[in-house]
Amino acid sequence: MNAQLLEVKTMLGQLRLSGAREKLEELLAGALKEELTALQFIHQLLIEELAVRNANSLQKRMKRARFPEHKTLEQFDFGFQQSVSKQQILKLMDMCWVEKAFNLFFLGPPSIGKTHLALCLGIRAVELGYQASFITLDQLMDILKTEPALTRSKRRLKQIMSSQLVIIDEVGFLPVNRQEANLFYQLVSHFYQQTSVIITSNKGFEEWTEFLGDMAITTAILDRLIHNSEIFNMSGDSYRVNHRNTIL
Ligand code: ADP
Ligand code: MG
Repeated sequence: MNAQLLEVKTMLGQLRLSGAREKLEELLAGALKEELTALQFIHQLLIEELAVRNANSLQKRMKRARFPEHKTLEQFDFGFQQSVSKQQILKLMDMCWVEKAFNLFFLGPPSIGKTHLALCLGIRAVELGYQASFITLDQLMDILKTEPALTRSKRRLKQIMSSQLVIIDEVGFLPVNRQEANLFYQLVSHFYQQTSVIITSNKGFEEWTEFLGDMAITTAILDRLIHNSEIFNMSGDSYRVNHRNTIL
């Protein structure tokens, strides 16, 4: 390899332009063949660098979001789940509501697609450049309680609190004690009017007091979450029961 080429590659590395460094020789050969001007060549090189950067940043944000599964809207059968329309979800896919820190609730019985739809929206948000976090309420409680002592929890909470969209899944599955309800209230207050939250829950609002254990805290939490929100009261048969895999 010629010395100047080697030096340029080293410099691109020092400048952290690894996408450009990787493609340099290929683009140089192409530029020679197609008789590109210096400006056209630089243009191509920068396009390459930006493409690599955007792909890396998308991958990083996707990993940080900790989605348990990759779900798409194409996989979702709106014929089977009729209490939510495809138009409604498509409209939400533009993520304008995240800009306004609106919240979404997907409420209803098990296996009707609440988590599936929340995942579609979360994944879309990340693809569009937002930071998102997915967590079950149970895991969230664990993080809030251990955050003072555990670096791992501290780091996760920081990521959650700096996200523009936080999906809290399975709210209401397990009862919550007073200390936990308080911690949850503090987090919800932090999110209020600055972070979008998607809540999935098998409990209607009237049942929230029961699992949160305190009327005043429940009201305070719901007031903040509901103030700017869209509520999907979903119903229907269990998708899993209807689409079960059988043995015989
Ligand atoms: P919930 O969160 O309401 O309990 P999930 O979203 O986890 O339910 O759905 C359970 C399983 O069934 C998931 O694998 C999901 O992808 C699938 N599912 C649920 N509803 C639908 C639907 N209408 N079309 C396609 N798949 C669905
Ligand atoms: Mg679910």
